[in-house]
Amino acid sequence: MATSPSDIETIPGFMDWFLGEPDASRGAPAAVVEVHGIGCTFSRSLTEEERAEVLGLLVRHADAHKEHRLIGTLAVPLAEITAERIDEIRTVAREIELAGNHGGSYPDMKCMVGLAFGARRDAAEKKRATFGGEILEDDEKCALIASLVIPLSQHAGTVAEIQKYLAHERKRIGDVELDRPPVFLAELTMVFEERAAAEALRPRFDAIGLTTNVVERVGKSVFWEVLRWQERWLVKSGRVEELMRPRRLSTAGFLGETERLEEVLKEDASTLVSLGITAADVAGRIREIVGKALRSRSSRYSRQDTYDVGRFRVRLMQWGGSQECPWLCAIDSGWASIDFAIENRRTGAKLRGPGLIVHLIAEHGFFEGKESPYRVDPRQAAEVLGLPRKWWDRFWRLG
Ligand SMILES: [Zn+2]
Repeated sequence: MATSPSDIETIPGFMDWFLGEPDASRGAPAAVVEVHGIGCTFSRSLTEEERAEVLGLLVRHADAHKEHRLIGTLAVPLAEITAERIDEIRTVAREIELAGNHGGSYPDMKCMVGLAFGARRDAAEKKRATFGGEILEDDEKCALIASLVIPLSQHAGTVAEIQKYLAHERKRIGDVELDRPPVFLAELTMVFEERAAAEALRPRFDAIGLTTNVVERVGKSVFWEVLRWQERWLVKSGRVEELMRPRRLSTAGFLGETERLEEVLKEDASTLVSLGITAADVAGRIREIVGKALRSRSSRYSRQDTYDVGRFRVRLMQWGGSQECPWLCAIDSGWASIDFAIENRRTGAKLRGPGLIVHLIAEHGFFEGKESPYRVDPRQAAEVLGLPRKWWDRFWRLG
């Protein structure tokens, strides 16, 4: 029995993991196995046993993340909805929340309006610009679905106040030309692990006149997990390049859309040779200088962010999140969540980069692509950092 994704990856002909649809750019697979939108592709057809193995792993995985969503909806003409009716729904939601012990999440309530524009997509777009929301399309027709600003939690407004908000929202919709009058939509949802628990609360939703449904879904966390399998597989199968493109692991990307990793690595390696230095020299020097600045910070949240380290002035910029190595190595988060700027105070020359670059240069000989805004150019680095170091630099260490 396959117990981990790597067991599946050893089946000959394994191509890829996917979420939603297989990636068409890799060519047509001979076999696809899929469960709830997570799956993998093979370049040859599978035997019965192989298919069962793959299916087994996917099903076990999806089952472990299954959730049951109790959804109650109400759709009535906006002109007919009253503040009392909205209050009735939110009161029940609040009672369920206070009673607890139902095995589900807190009830979540939304109030929206649907505006039917028929075939007039441009009119819907125009309304969205001021009103917000999402455009829903069905064949030749389109509608704008937008949230209404109405106090929905019990302590947030009296019935009279809801009435005022409703009037205000009606005014905001204004005198727009529509295919039919605006529709008020309310949705009350709760998420349960067990279907029986969802069914047990269903009568409460029915009792206030909602149309109810229990929907089985795979939780979001499973998608993150499969994305992770996919990333690991890309690294394992030598396709790190794909993770380096913009909007994959980072918005800006480690490489431009068409740059080739192999070429970037080769060119930078030969630049290093011509300068008479190694990647370790560059990474080591940045680690030494920026490391001193990092250690002299009183805390990660310190406001003072400029430090003098010998003949260098170092500026540190702290980010909330940390950047991942595209080879998915474990990284010290202290380094992965900063950017630095090193200024050589004698020459005024500057070098900027992300903290992660120290790892990328030292472990992978990678200075980032020429089209990446985070590239640390090796030639510029050598100039600013004073590399190669003269043999008599060792003099300082003797003392
Ligand atoms: Zn790495």
